[in-house]
Amino acid sequence: MKNSKELRTWLDDLYINHPLVIAGPCSAETEEQVLKTAHKLKDSDVNYFRAGIWKPRTRPGNFEGVGALGLKWLQKVKAETGMKTAVEVANAGHVKLAIEHDIDLLWIGARSTVSPFIVQEIADALEGTDKIVLVKNPVNQDLALWLGGVERLHSSNIKKLGVIHRGFSSYQKTRYRNNPEWQIPIELQNRFPDLPLICDPSHITGKREMIFEVSQTALDLNFNGLMIETHIDPDNAWSDAAQQVTPDTLIQMMKKLKIRKETDTEAEYRNALNTLRTQIDIIDHQLIEIFGKRMEIADGIGELKKEKNVAILQSKRWNEILGKMILKGEENQLSEEFILKVFKAIHQESINHQEKVMNR
Ligand code: PEP
Ligand code: MN
Repeated sequence: MKNSKELRTWLDDLYINHPLVIAGPCSAETEEQVLKTAHKLKDSDVNYFRAGIWKPRTRPGNFEGVGALGLKWLQKVKAETGMKTAVEVANAGHVKLAIEHDIDLLWIGARSTVSPFIVQEIADALEGTDKIVLVKNPVNQDLALWLGGVERLHSSNIKKLGVIHRGFSSYQKTRYRNNPEWQIPIELQNRFPDLPLICDPSHITGKREMIFEVSQTALDLNFNGLMIETHIDPDNAWSDAAQQVTPDTLIQMMKKLKIRKETDTEAEYRNALNTLRTQIDIIDHQLIEIFGKRMEIADGIGELKKEKNVAILQSKRWNEILGKMILKGEENQLSEEFILKVFKAIHQESINHQEKVMNR
């Protein structure tokens, strides 16, 4: 995929509806739950009503979706509310049924994007249709695999393409269910500025309290839209209960979000500035987290030295570190003066940490 401009054609729609909003329950559970949720969203800014029909669950024994029956409920949603409909597909059979039930937008889930066989099967089944297809990022941090999925669909002549950023799993516990790793969608946006980019704050955060903040970050980074899980009775949802919001909360949230529009040069400038500032904020947060991790390791070294009764300050080791970092700094256009200042401060903090451990 060399040029992503043609992909943007369906986004004329997105320019009018900015941001594009896809909302609905994690899973379709009952006809009543689906229709009640949809009717609450009928007069809102939601453009596509989503519902999971076939649910990829991490472990067996959980609710795995109502299956094709749910597609009939989505047809009712469209007939009664006028909203377009969206489902996740994970094989050729799903694609066939979704097309038969006139679903407008299909997405490929994070657990499917990791498998080129599955994506190829879906691409083959879609060939010759003009459905909108969105590819969620794979669960692991692999931009090439993500783009590979888009390319397979593109090769099957699917023109209305886009991607959904839903965060990346990590072994380490963080405040997110799936770490946003914003640098990955930012790189994707830099390389394919015309590939529509949607953020899924529900699966990134895993917690309804954090959805607004992540949605705002996505809009500040010029994402084209949001996919947000919403349920008429979130606490009793059959899947992803903690991250779903009521339709009323969603509507309130959408009113509060600051939407960045490209209307004139002045606004364009401010947009660009905001994007860059958000990128800086994200990196600053990452820096603090990395410093924190470095100090945890320093504490570990403190423990070891305490056990063996060894002095904290090891000048030889310290001079070696400084020498290496000055060279590394040069490679990255950072002055020696800057490296010395930063590393002296880091070293001092490290010593303070080790001293604390020694004196415990
Ligand atoms: C979903 O959208 O409900 C879903 C299963 O998402 P993901 O593939 O991102 O886990
Ligand atoms: Mn879900």
